[in-house]
Amino acid sequence: MPDISAASAPQPPNSPQPPARQRVLSGMRPTGALHLGHYHGALKNWVQLQSTHDCFFFVADWHALTTHGQGKQDRGWIERNVYDMVVDWLAAGIDPEQATLFIQSRMPEHAELFTLLAMSTPTSWLERIPSYKDQVERNRELATYGFLGYPLLQAADILIYKAACVPVGEDQSAHVEVTREVARRFNRLYAPDQPILPEPLEMLTATPRLPGLDGQKMSKSAGNAIAMRDAPGVVDEKVRTMPTDPQRVRLGDPGDPERCPVWPLHELYSDESTQSWVQQGCQSASMGCLDCKRPLIEAIQKEQKPWHERAESYLANPKQVHWIVEVGAERARAVARKTLREVRAAMGLAY
Ligand code: SF4
Repeated sequence: MPDISAASAPQPPNSPQPPARQRVLSGMRPTGALHLGHYHGALKNWVQLQSTHDCFFFVADWHALTTHGQGKQDRGWIERNVYDMVVDWLAAGIDPEQATLFIQSRMPEHAELFTLLAMSTPTSWLERIPSYKDQVERNRELATYGFLGYPLLQAADILIYKAACVPVGEDQSAHVEVTREVARRFNRLYAPDQPILPEPLEMLTATPRLPGLDGQKMSKSAGNAIAMRDAPGVVDEKVRTMPTDPQRVRLGDPGDPERCPVWPLHELYSDESTQSWVQQGCQSASMGCLDCKRPLIEAIQKEQKPWHERAESYLANPKQVHWIVEVGAERARAVARKTLREVRAAMGLAY
C-alpha cells in the first residue's frame, strides 16, 4: 500500500511519531464550470484542509448521472466536465502532492461496497431524505433507482476510505447522518465485536452568503454565476450590469446596500474601509453604482489571476491532468481494497 499519510511516513529510530492526520473525504459533481460560489463554499476550505488533513477529493461523476444526462445526445459532456472540474480544482490551489484526487467511476470498489451495504440498508432510510422527496415531487424523471440510491452510494464513497470527517454545508447534514446509520447497522450485523466501518463526523463549513448576479443563489443553471475562470472582461461586464437597489432609480436617489445584490459581494471581497465608503456613498446618494462596483470588479479579477495562471499551464498539458487523477486513483484504490477485503470477510465472502 503506498504511503498516503504523514502518519505512515518512515521515521528515524526512537523519534516520536507525529499525530496521524485525520482523513477527510469530499466530492463534487461535474455538472459545469465551477463558479465563485463553489470556490467560497467548498474549494477554499479544501485548499486549507489539504495541509492539515489526509484529504481525498473525488469527482462524483456517477452522482452527476443520477440527475443529469438522461438521453443526452452528446455523450462527451461528462468527460469534458470531469476534466474541466479537475482543472478548476488545481487552479484554485489544490495540490496533488498533498491531496489525493481521483474520479469516482474509475473506482469500481465504490460500486461493490454500495451493493454490499444495500443488503443491510432499509429502503425507508433513503426515501425519507428530504432532498429526495422534494426533488422527485418537482421532477418525476428523477424517480429512478439510481437517484433513490444516491445517499447510499455517497455512504459507500465515504466509508470505503474510513473517512473521519466530511466537510458539508448545513443542507447536507442528513446525508452524513445516513452514512453513520449505514455504518452502525453494518457493524452491528456483521462486525459486532470489532467494528469495521467508522462513523464519520460532519465538518460543518461556514459558507459565506454569496448570491448570484441577480441576488438569488448562485448557480450555473440560473445563469447568474461568475465562473472561476471567466475572463477579466467577462467579469467586468457581468458585475457592471448587475441589478442594484431597486429603489435607487436615479443617481440622486439614496439607496440601501441591504436591498442591493451587490452588497453581499462587498461583504466578502471588500475591507472595512471600502465597505463604509459604500454604505456612506449609497445612503447619501453621493456615489454612482458603477463607482461602487469598481473595487469589487478589481477584487474578483485579482482573486482570479492565480487561477488563470495555474489553469493555463494545465490546459496546455492535458496529459498531466489525466496523470494526476490516475495516480490519485491508485493511491485511493489501495485504501479502498483493504476496506473491501475486511467487509467481504465480515460478510462471509472471503472465498
Ligand atoms: S451604490 Fe452600491 S450598494 Fe448602493 S445601490 Fe448602487 S451598487 Fe448597490
